[in-house]
Formats: sequence, structure tokens, C-alpha cells
Amino acid sequence: MSGTRTYLDWNATAPLRAEARTAMLAALDAVGNASSPHREGRRARALVEGAREQVAASLGAEPRHVYFTCGATEAANWLLTPKVQRAGSSNPFAVLLVGASEHAAVLQGHRFPAENVERLPVDGNGVIELCWLERRLGELVAGHGRGSVLVALQAANNETGVVQPLPEVVELLAATGAVLICDAVQAVARVPLAAQAVGTGALFFSGHKLGGPQGVGAVVFAGDELWPEPLLRGGGQERRQRSGSENVAGIAGLAAALTAAISEQEAVAARGRRLQARIEAGLRRMRADAVVFGTAAPRLANTTCFALPGIAAETALIGLDLAGVAVSSGSACSSGKVARSHVLEAMGVAPALAGAALRVSSGRATGEAEIDACLLALRTIEQAHAKRNGPGPQVGERKVA
Ligand code: PLP
Repeated sequence: MSGTRTYLDWNATAPLRAEARTAMLAALDAVGNASSPHREGRRARALVEGAREQVAASLGAEPRHVYFTCGATEAANWLLTPKVQRAGSSNPFAVLLVGASEHAAVLQGHRFPAENVERLPVDGNGVIELCWLERRLGELVAGHGRGSVLVALQAANNETGVVQPLPEVVELLAATGAVLICDAVQAVARVPLAAQAVGTGALFFSGHKLGGPQGVGAVVFAGDELWPEPLLRGGGQERRQRSGSENVAGIAGLAAALTAAISEQEAVAARGRRLQARIEAGLRRMRADAVVFGTAAPRLANTTCFALPGIAAETALIGLDLAGVAVSSGSACSSGKVARSHVLEAMGVAPALAGAALRVSSGRATGEAEIDACLLALRTIEQAHAKRNGPGPQVGERKVA
């Protein structure tokens, strides 16, 4: 990364891609409301519809199944509602099952009454408990009928990078007529993902995680089955589902970023995997008791969530920032303050260890130099800690209980 800073917080937001900047500047220079019938308006409309086609092509969907929003949070607020018109049922969803490690943008269940929202447990590696899901779906269908359950489950976790078994989940849901809403924010353009991966449901993502601008996102439906009640009403844009004049430049930037990110996806993931191994080996060399979370589960190649026991995340974050290294502790979206991670809590991580958790996330511009700068800064923090508190166990040593 540029200058003296080392940016390792790509899961919080990624630097803008050149392709997105170019597309946005071109769109910003063109006057016109996409709803206006004159030439200027038609030009803006063409930009929006071109972007819709690009997003659809990138995710194996039909353009009419793509809706633009102002980001993932808005998408979740729109989709998580009991009031959804759908093929084969006019009943509202009775219950929402939400993964316990979902991002705050999803976790509360939004337009569902709180008493109709249940948490889906995850195991010690952060993977959804499939047996629990199967059993609970059976009970709910017995009580409320087929098709009565909506499930919100992310494709990959923002803190740990743990990837959920979507094919198995979709199979379970199909057997009971349940529908999946998938937060694909961290997975899109990082792992292979198509609209069909969500069965009959929908996925959503945010532009800024993949090198597009902040404040724009998209929902992609797998088919024509679902019509959630609109969240924003007004001029009827986005086929009456999301009123408000379109953010033409943002939408153009999002589509350009997505196309570019998907074209590099494999190469960036392969390099990310090597960098992930490098940082995790470095951490283990530094401290024999270093903990990396979620290692027994499939993980994104770009994410390492770890703890050096005894070193508080706040202390390490400040030390790293002073040393020129930007990482995160838990979810940056709720930060400014460092709150305890509900993700690690759901995984059964003890509060003291969770309080030491840091997240390093890499991206297309990250190389070995950035990883080594981070390890070096952590080493300095660790040495200062050891000086004050005595050394932690070194490699080859075992701590006596
Ligand atoms: N879901 C996940 C997994 C995220 O990581 C984030 C942001 O960090 C969001 C949802 C919310 O995205 P936005 O703030 O762009 O609406």
C-alpha cells in the first residue's frame, strides 16, 4: 500500500478500484435523472441498466432480478420482513432463523417482531449447526406449515472469514419450503458464488467491499418467486421495490468494480492464501499460545482472526496504528469503539480471549511486505507486553496449567 501506511482492513472497506473511479467519473459528468424521458435521462437510464446487466452477468442472474440499494444494510432491512409475496403461498413468514454470527446489519431481524426471530447456533469454528437447523425446521413446519420459515445466513463471516455450507443449507431449506436470504458481502468476488447458490431466495452485497464506492449495494434474487414489501416508497424506482432517484455514479462504480474483482478473483485468492499462511505461521512463531479462530472450517483466503492471549485488542490496535498498520478488532462497522465480538461469543470463545481478538484482512494490493510489517509491529507490541508481564510461552514450550 501507499506511503508509510500498511492497510490490512479490507473486510472493513477496500480501496476504490481504478475501473470504478473511471466509470463513476464518466457518470458524474453526465447530467440526467434516470427517470426522465429526455435524452439526458435516457443516458442515465442506460448507465443504470448497463450496470444491472453487468451485475447479473457476474452472478449468473437475470438483469430483472437485480435491484440496487444504498448498501448491504439497506438490503437486509428490505429483505428481512415477514411480508413477502411469493409463488405458492400468500402467508407471511412466521419465523426468521438468523445465524448467530451474522453481521449487525442482519442479526436483529429488522421488520420481524423480535419474538419471531430465533438464533441459529454455530459450532466452535463458526460453522452453522446443520443438525440443529434440520431439527428446528421440522418443528417449525409442523407448527406453522410448509414455507413458514425465512432463514438469514451469511456466505462468509466478516470477522473470521469462515465460509458457511450454503449447498447443504439450501438442500435442507428446500425440503421444508423455507427461503434463504444470504448476506454475501464478504463472499462476492472472493469465492465462487452465483445467484442459484441461494436456492429460491436472494443474496445481497455492498460495493465498497470489492473496490466500488461506499453507499451503494445490490440485491440479487435467484428467480421471480419473492416480492418483499418495499422498504422505501415514493417514485416507484427499481420496479417499485426501492423508490428514490438512482445513485447513477455509484451504481456504475459498483458494477465496474464487481466485473474487475471477479476477473481477478482466482489470482487474488491464491495470493491471499499464501499471505494467510505467512501471517499465521509468523504468529505461531511469535507465541506458541497464539490462537487463530475458525481454522478447522473453510475460510476466506484473505482473513485471519487471531488473539495473542493477554494482549488486549484495544492496546494492540493502538500500537499497530501508531506503527502505521491498520487492522481491525471484530467488526469495523460497529466500531470507533471496540465492542466484544458476538461472533466469537457464539463460537464459545472465552471473553478474555475474545477481548484479545484482532482481524487482519488483505486484498488485491497486499503483498508479503505488508504482512511482514504487521508481524514486525506485533512483535514489538508483544515484546513490550512480555517486558511488563513476563514472556508468554515460546515455540516448543508448553504452559503448565
Ligand atoms: N454484512 C457484512 C458481512 C459486512 O461485513 C458488512 C459491513 O462490514 C455489512 C453487512 C454492512 O455493509 P454496509 O455497511 O455496506 O451496509
